[in-house]
Amino acid sequence: MKKGFVIILFCLTTLAAAFYFAKYQFSKNNPAVPQENAPSLPPVSQDLQNFSGNQTESSNPGASEKQSVRPLQPPLDRSAERVTKKPFGIFITPQNSPVQPEKFRGYHTGTDFEIFPEEVDADVNVYAICSGTIALKESASGYGGVLVQNCQLDNQPITAIYGHLKLASISKKTSENLNAGETIGILGKAYSLETDGERKHLHLGIHRGSSISIRGYAGSQAQLSGWIDPCSHICN
Ligand SMILES: [Zn+2]
Repeated sequence: MKKGFVIILFCLTTLAAAFYFAKYQFSKNNPAVPQENAPSLPPVSQDLQNFSGNQTESSNPGASEKQSVRPLQPPLDRSAERVTKKPFGIFITPQNSPVQPEKFRGYHTGTDFEIFPEEVDADVNVYAICSGTIALKESASGYGGVLVQNCQLDNQPITAIYGHLKLASISKKTSENLNAGETIGILGKAYSLETDGERKHLHLGIHRGSSISIRGYAGSQAQLSGWIDPCSHICN
């Protein structure tokens, strides 16, 4: 009996020792122990940092990314279907022009958006393609009513030129803000002072920079490079 007790005691001691050893080994390999696992820790904490970084800074990069990739708003309903006569960059002469009679000559600095047959006598709303203040609102030769708006595109300053508008329909004044998609006014009446004798349509130009130019035709390709094709942003 005494011998058996000693054996049991030995076994219990061995088990206790084995358990203690195993526990020691576990805590030794535990990732919570900093020094030994230092090499594997930085990537984990770095990932977490990046994650939390993105979380906290999401408003800024997200907003700028949204701004730079966001296409401009269309200036009219069904804009893409309306570009049937004078696209951006087309070289116009009185002889070759798709619009007759023609008094202009040069590279078209904007895009012309035509009206649909049912819109001949209807009010056709024109919407701001971007958000920004009104830099100019006047009656000008070649346009009739024209409005110029200061905007940003891909974080660069641009001006948007809306030609052939009915000035009296524009309630906002110079230096007031227009939000993208906001109604500016309506198209001018065909062959009237509101369009300076042109057909009823919208001429939309996008000029690089913040200086104002409302020229509808450029004399050379080099001059045309100061303008951006509106359809590369709003006709798809
Ligand atoms: Zn035009």
